[in-house]
Amino acid sequence: MKILVVSAHPEPRSLTASLARFAVDHLRAAGHEVRVSDLYAMKWKATVDADDFPDHAGDRRLQVMGASEEATLAGRLSADVAAEQEKVRWADAVVLQFPLWWFSAPAILKGWIDRVFTAGFGYGPAVPAPYTEGVFAGKRALLSVTAGARPSAFSDRGIHGSIGDVLYPLQHGLFWFTGIAPLEPFAVYGSNDLPEERFAEARQAYAARLDGLFTHEPVPFRTLDGGDYDHDMRLLPGVEAPGTEGLALHARPRG
Ligand SMILES: Cc1cc2nc3c(=O)[nH]c(=O)nc-3n(C[C@H](O)[C@H](O)[C@H](O)COP(=O)(O)OP(=O)(O)OC[C@H]3O[C@@H](n4cnc5c(N)ncnc54)[C@H](O)[C@@H]3O)c2cc1C
Repeated sequence: MKILVVSAHPEPRSLTASLARFAVDHLRAAGHEVRVSDLYAMKWKATVDADDFPDHAGDRRLQVMGASEEATLAGRLSADVAAEQEKVRWADAVVLQFPLWWFSAPAILKGWIDRVFTAGFGYGPAVPAPYTEGVFAGKRALLSVTAGARPSAFSDRGIHGSIGDVLYPLQHGLFWFTGIAPLEPFAVYGSNDLPEERFAEARQAYAARLDGLFTHEPVPFRTLDGGDYDHDMRLLPGVEAPGTEGLALHARPRG
């Protein structure tokens, strides 16, 4: 299968970079075709601006969604964005490797998302509706994060909430929105102080998750057209499993 690994860390000797290299080697050894976007090494430009749309006249007000869709449909995006879009289209699965920074992805990775998933590519009137068998149906995604906090702080009663809820904006708002089926995230907790034996354990656990990239069950998010939502995109009363609340509501099959 074809897999795109996107990694985001400024230090090539970091834990994040080591895990990204491990993932690439492991997947290739298993016979997959792997391409890599190492965003800091590529000096990826993180902000959307008029330079992303070479045909945009400098004196015109920049309406980002409109310019984005126009340039995408005309095949007139900047070359760096077009190259990343080609990789996403090519891939059967996408792995994002990053350190959890302020409960989210580092800005450079957020900028990769903002710039690559343009209108007309990932969303908008020219592509299928969100949360359906959408534009990228059939693809899978795995978030692989390192987090400084200990696992208990992300546990059922942990102060930070579950890692699935913390990463909900990416899991549901990016992947599922565009039809990509996200797997449960993989996380290495307590990552600021990781002796070699815990790193070895982390590699073993990561290998098992990479081996299941195409066989493990994705998070069971609901589809917009599956009969669970009303016209206003609100979950209908009574469709949730008893006892579920908050973000988990949208990820639980009917009760
Ligand atoms: C701006 C910012 C915001 C943050 N926000 C959050 C947050 O919201 N929630 C949270 O939980 N944490 C947060 N953190 C902590 C952050 O998640 C961790 O610092 C990060 O995950 C550590 O990963 P790293 O790749 O930077 O590790 P590094 O600093 O590169 O390494 C971490 C440890 O891994 C060890 N290690 C073992 N084997 C290897 C190897 N082979 N290669 C490299 N290193 C190895 C290193 O020796 C070191 O002890 C934040 C940090 C920053 C800077």
